[in-house]
Amino acid sequence: MTKMTAQEYMDRESKYGAHNYHPLPVVLDKGKGPFVWDTDGKQYFDFLSAYSAVNQGHCHPKIVNAMVEQAQKITLTSRAFYNSSLGEFEQYVTKYFGYEKVLPMNTGAEADETALKLCRKWGYLKKGIPADQAKIICCFENFHGRTISIVSMSTDPDSYGGFGPFTPGFVKIPYNDIAALEKELQDPNVAGFIVEPIQGEAGVFVPDEGYLKKASDLCKKHNVLFIADEVQTGIARTGKLLAVDHEGVRPDILILGKAISGGVFPVSCVLADDEIMLCIKPGEHGSTFGGNPIAAKVAIAALEVVKEEKLAENAERLGKIFRSEFSAIKSDMIELVRGKGLLNAVVIRNKNGKTAWDVCVAMKENGVLAKPTHGNIIRFAPPLVITEEQLYEAIGLIKKTFKQFE
Ligand code: PLP
Repeated sequence: MTKMTAQEYMDRESKYGAHNYHPLPVVLDKGKGPFVWDTDGKQYFDFLSAYSAVNQGHCHPKIVNAMVEQAQKITLTSRAFYNSSLGEFEQYVTKYFGYEKVLPMNTGAEADETALKLCRKWGYLKKGIPADQAKIICCFENFHGRTISIVSMSTDPDSYGGFGPFTPGFVKIPYNDIAALEKELQDPNVAGFIVEPIQGEAGVFVPDEGYLKKASDLCKKHNVLFIADEVQTGIARTGKLLAVDHEGVRPDILILGKAISGGVFPVSCVLADDEIMLCIKPGEHGSTFGGNPIAAKVAIAALEVVKEEKLAENAERLGKIFRSEFSAIKSDMIELVRGKGLLNAVVIRNKNGKTAWDVCVAMKENGVLAKPTHGNIIRFAPPLVITEEQLYEAIGLIKKTFKQFE
């Protein structure tokens, strides 16, 4: 059989797959650490990391081995029965993040849905909110996933447009605005405030220092649950284990996904203490695959790698180098650089009709993969296993790209 060309791979996806994504024109076939290779064998630095799921690097041998070993033993039991791996994960992950209980799911969106349900249930059972009156505060420009209830929180027309009617009970306020939060917290029917410690999909918006601490303190004062969606910012990405750790905040409900499996398997979870988590009783929530033995073993291995390889420390140190090197690039296409750890974004100024998309295509040609978000923002988020030497090499390729637009 003759080898397929990249174009043939892309045409096949386009013909048989829904058109719900607009991928960069590159067909990936293999990955290792911070690198990926296309179907023609060309090597690239991966500066997206599957939207921060591959923090531990592609195909990390320890995580892959954990999956293969478990896959040969038992893959899925459902939660109708106990399995010999789930408890090990539950014990490990609760000790790791300092919570009394965990509820495992698969995707980020499911974990967010779980947190919303848990919060509402707590609001009725513990806070005494009248039936069906619970409200949850969320932020403009949030991204929590794609389900109907989650897009009911969205202020991005691409996310919610044409998908109504929407789930009621959400109050939207500007991000990074303590006064707006304080105003809405006066309502006794508010059960929770859900927030991304850094807004990732929106374009890596880092709130003012102190915002998360003040927000968390205000929630405590008003008996409202502070819910941190760390699906993208968590697991060492921003230079600490959690992005809320930068401000010493402990969320009442913590949502994790993506890198909790190192991108090897869909794993997500919600962490909370008994007072909150035990509001959900048997039969009230679940998932056929949530907490399956492969997920359990994969997540333990992935979390071990984060500590063993000091990925938070690496992200903190290399993030500073990235921002300082980037700020020094002389290009009138670069408006600003922002971020924390190895979650960074560059805001692009269009030049001679050239946009962030064109920059990403040119970077791809030069061997670096990144993707624009919201038209003019490019996110740079390499796997956290990248070395200093590799980072400098990648920055060299990025600099070369911007020079081509001069
Ligand atoms: N929450 C945040 C903050 C995210 O960034 C994302 C995905 O990008 C999600 C939730 C949804 O995760 P998933 O795509 O796994 O459903």
